[in-house]
Amino acid sequence: MAEEILGRVNSIESFGSVDGPGVRFIFFMQGCRMRCKYCHNPETWKTDDGGELYTPEDAFKKAYRYKNYWNNGGGITVSGGEPLLQIEFVTELFKIAHEKGVNTALDTSANPFNSADPEFMKKFEALLEVTDLFLLDIKEINPERHKDLTAWDNSNILEMAKYLSDHGKNMWIRHVLVPGVNDFEEDLQGLSDFVKTLKTVQRFEILPYHNMMIPKYEKLGIDFPLKDLDAADKSDVEKADKILNTSEYKGYLAK
Ligand code: SF4
Repeated sequence: MAEEILGRVNSIESFGSVDGPGVRFIFFMQGCRMRCKYCHNPETWKTDDGGELYTPEDAFKKAYRYKNYWNNGGGITVSGGEPLLQIEFVTELFKIAHEKGVNTALDTSANPFNSADPEFMKKFEALLEVTDLFLLDIKEINPERHKDLTAWDNSNILEMAKYLSDHGKNMWIRHVLVPGVNDFEEDLQGLSDFVKTLKTVQRFEILPYHNMMIPKYEKLGIDFPLKDLDAADKSDVEKADKILNTSEYKGYLAK
């Protein structure tokens, strides 16, 4: 008998309004290997512990009770943590959603993307079939600064962005702006140049860094590396946007 696919879900949000078009039911998956210094969800980091186990069918049923709110392109978003670490669960959940005509979005850091692994790529292609929109974080374009910020390389992340573009998949690119950490002019210019090479970017967003997650770190007993840093303000965002020109990308039309 085939092994049952279970997803480890850290938490859910019934009325998300920023992680995809319309009103979204959001599953925040447990588990992430990255260690972004500004991470808002450190409670999701552990991969094999925490959260609640769901079958794809049960997860869908839980979300589908909210279908009446999903006009204007709303639907289901899977976020994290890093949802690609539970790719089989997400694919099954999105398959069921598509059978019912529900819009699906995946909010990902792309960290697990590995084009050299045929097994991963087979699963990834199956996921592509049932995902309407990818919300992809690009945290830093400069490889060294990316590694310093997240503890991981960014080459596979940029590769996944290109892969999605080449396969005609809709994307929102998001950049958490951390003043003094990842808002160097040359890096923002590099990011802008890279995003321009992608053909399917429907939206490009700057997410200003905030420090409201500090109490979470204190509760978890994890040292918060940016504790002396101020949140990004309007002028930081405006300055960055002069280079990124995000308004050029405002054009997502919900299916
Ligand atoms: S990828 Fe997301 S969940 Fe993982 S550490 Fe970075 S911000 Fe946190």
